[in-house]
Parts: sequence; C-alpha cells; structure tokens
Amino acid sequence: MKCPVCKIDLVVTGQEALETLSEHVTCSEPSLKSVYQCPNIKCKAHEYGAVWNYDGEYYSYKMEFKQSKDLEENHFIGKNNGSFSRQANVEIYCNGLKKRIWLSPNWTFGWLKPVIRYTYQSNKDGDVLKRGWKVEFYKRDTHFDGKKGRHCILWHSFYHMFKFSMEDFYKRKKRFENSTKENAKRYSAQDFIDQFEDNDKRRYRKTKKWFINFFYARSYKKAKSYL
Ligand SMILES: [Zn+2]
Repeated sequence: MKCPVCKIDLVVTGQEALETLSEHVTCSEPSLKSVYQCPNIKCKAHEYGAVWNYDGEYYSYKMEFKQSKDLEENHFIGKNNGSFSRQANVEIYCNGLKKRIWLSPNWTFGWLKPVIRYTYQSNKDGDVLKRGWKVEFYKRDTHFDGKKGRHCILWHSFYHMFKFSMEDFYKRKKRFENSTKENAKRYSAQDFIDQFEDNDKRRYRKTKKWFINFFYARSYKKAKSYL
C-alpha cells in the first residue's frame, strides 16, 4: 500500500481503534487495527498525520479541517485518498482523468446524443494500466404518459436490451430448474412464469414475451404445475 501523495510504501506505526465503514454501518465497537502512515518526513501526508487502515480506508480525524481539505485537494494524486478507493476513483469516477467528450447530436439526426467515454483500468495504487474508450448514446427519458423528461439516460439498442432480457430469462429458468425445496420451487416457478405473462409495453419486452412463449411453452406448463 503506497502513500497517495509521494507513493512511498506506508508503514505500520501503531494500533488504534479505527472504525471501518462496515463497523459504522453495523454499529459495532471498532476493533484495534494497525495504523498505516507515510514515513517520508517531507510528505504532506506525514506532516498532517494522515492514517490508513489495512484495507486502505483513509482517516483524517487527527487533522484540522483545513489540512484535510488541503491534502485532499492539493496533494492526493488525482484526489485519490485511499488504497482500494484509489482503484475505484480511477476506474469508476475517473478522478483527475479525462472522462468523456460529447459529440454533436447531428450525427444521429438529433435523435440521440453521442458521447465518447474513456475507460480506465487501474491497480490498487491508482496507477492507470490500460486506457480505452467506447461510444455511448444518450436519450431524453420519456415518462409513462409519453412526455419528454428532463434527464438523459443511456440508450441501449433494441438488440442489446433483448439480449440482456434473454440472459435474465435463462438465469431465472435455471433457478427454477435447480431449486429443490418445496417453497423455493414454488417461488422460483412463479418468478419464471411472470416472464411469460409480462405486460410491459416496451418493444424488446414484447418481443421477448413472444419469443419465450413460442419456444419455451413446455417449460411454462411445467412451471405452472408447481403452483
Ligand atoms: Zn507520503
């Protein structure tokens, strides 16, 4: 685990009752944990007394608010403050990295808003190992009454949505077939059947309903017999 300011390996300097997120959530007494600190005396993380636990969670409770802000905004590389979160900060939040470029909607005759989104793969220390990009399309959301909404949602092609929903179908089918206990069998059968009686009006859902009713009529009958 490396210091997110100077990248020197953190060292254990003692034991303290550092509360982890899961301890906080479950309201359990924080256990004693090894405290990791930066040994580099020229480093701001050392100077301010920043500490981490074994999991890379970052604690700034010994610092003044001003120091903590300074560390976060001016010294943590890419504003990444912890070991595990550094990876997430790179891969999910793209902190300090280029995120996306919006392209002109004219490319799709104004129907969708295309965007190039950059993707990153990183190690635990937040070093970028691989860069990539993909094209995504966004669309104004529509309310149930057909009016245009205010938000943009990621648009998936019909084929993609159909494919996702079929994968979902096979997952539920497997769950139904593999469940053995009487109660579980009944629940999973009902869950499986619901897909055949789906009332959703979206095109990919209607197509899926037609498709499974056509090809899996036998499985449907079999599931019905368990209710
Ligand atoms: Zn350091």
